Amino acid sequence: MMTETERKILEERLHTVQERIAQAARAAGRNPSDVLLVAATKMNDAERVRAAIAAGLTACGENRVQELIEKYEQGAYTGSDLQFIGTLQSNKVKYLMGKVSLIQSVSSVKLAECIAKEAKKHNLCQDILLEVNIGREAAKSGFFAEALAQALETLAPLQTIRIRGLMAIPPISTGTDKSSRYFAEMRQLFVDISAKKYDNVSMDYLSMGMTADFEEAIACGANIVRVGTGIFGARPYLQQ
Ligand SMILES: *Cc1c(COP(=O)(O)O)cnc(C)c1O
Repeated sequence: MMTETERKILEERLHTVQERIAQAARAAGRNPSDVLLVAATKMNDAERVRAAIAAGLTACGENRVQELIEKYEQGAYTGSDLQFIGTLQSNKVKYLMGKVSLIQSVSSVKLAECIAKEAKKHNLCQDILLEVNIGREAAKSGFFAEALAQALETLAPLQTIRIRGLMAIPPISTGTDKSSRYFAEMRQLFVDISAKKYDNVSMDYLSMGMTADFEEAIACGANIVRVGTGIFGARPYLQQ
C-alpha cells in the first residue's frame, strides 16, 4: 500500500512535469493542450498508476505485454488512455487488440502487417506510430530514416491500421552528441512525410522526449512526450 506521503510526492511530481510541459509548449509558441503527456508506467504497480490517474494523468504507456495485461486486469488504467510503447513481438500483438488506442513502437513492416491482420480479425482499425532508429544504433529497433518512404508505400493501403505519426528514442545524450540534433532530424522527417500526403497516413503525432530531455523535444516539435522517472521516481530495478 502507498502511504499518504508517497501519494503526495507522486502528485507533486506529476504536476511539476505537467507544468514544465506547459511552459515548454508556450516557449515554443504552442498551446499546452497540444502536447500529450504519456506516463511510462513500466515497473509501477496498479496502485501507483491509479494514484497518478487520480492526480490528473490522462495517458499511460506500457512496455511489456505481460505487464500490461496483468495491470489491465487489476483495473490500473481505468479513466486513462492506454498506449503501447515497448518492443513488441508479432506473436503478442493479439493480446493488445481492443486494449490500446495507439501502438507507438512499430519497428518493422512485418510487425505493422501483423497488427493489420490481428486488427482485421478483431474488426477494428489500430492506430500506430512508426518507430525510427534515428541514431542508427545496433541495439535499438526501428526504421532507418531512408527506409520510411518504402514502408509507408507498403503500409498505406492496409485498411485496418492507420499510421498517425513517428516515434523515436534517440541515443543517450553525451557532451558531444546532443539529443536536440536527433530531435531536429525527427522533426524534418515528420515534416517531409506530412508534405507527401500518403493515403491513410496522417502525421498527427511526433512522439519523442523522456524525463531527461522532454523540454528539448517539445522545442523541436514533439507533441507526445513519454515520461517515467520524472513522475514515478526511480524504478525499483532496471528493466528495458
Ligand atoms: C521507460 C521509457 C520512457 C520513459 O523513460 P524515463 O527516462 O523514465 O522518463 C519513455 N519511452 C520508452 C519507450 C520507455 O521505455
